[in-house]
Amino acid sequence: MTQQTPDDCLFCKIVCGEIPSDRVAESERSIAFRDIDPAAPIHVLVVPRRHEPTVGALAAASPDDLADVFRLAQRVADQEGVADAHRMIVNTGGDAGQTVFHAHVHVLAGARFTEGRMV
Ligand code: AMP
Ligand code: ZN
Repeated sequence: MTQQTPDDCLFCKIVCGEIPSDRVAESERSIAFRDIDPAAPIHVLVVPRRHEPTVGALAAASPDDLADVFRLAQRVADQEGVADAHRMIVNTGGDAGQTVFHAHVHVLAGARFTEGRMV
C-alpha cells in the first residue's frame, strides 16, 4: 500500500490550512470539507487531524479519533438535511479506490444510490 508521510500528505496540508478547502464543519479532532470532484450533489469528506493511512489504522491507533470522525460525519449529515438519507463510505487500498492515504469517510447524499457491486 502506498505510504504517505504527513509531510507530503494532501489531507494533512488541508488540515493545517496550507491547501485551501471548502470546510463545512470541524471538531477538536476532525475536519469536514466538500470533495473537489463530487460524486453526488452532497459529497463531504470527514478527516481526522491525526495522520493515519487508513480508517483501520486509525481504529487501531486511536479509537477516540475514529469515533470523532463518525460523530462529525453524522453532524454533517444533520447539517446538510440528509440525516435519514445518506451514505458513509470508506475506501481502503488502491484496488478499492483509495487515492489519498490519510484516513477519511465520504458522506454522500442527494442522489439515489444503487447497491455497490464488485467488478
Ligand atoms: P479516496 O478515493 O477514497 O481516497 O478519496 C479521496 C477523495 O479526495 C476523492 O473523492 C477526491 O475527489 C478528493 N480530493 C482530492 N483532492 C482534493 C482536494 N484538494 N480538496 C477536496 N477533495 C479532494
Ligand atoms: Zn495526512
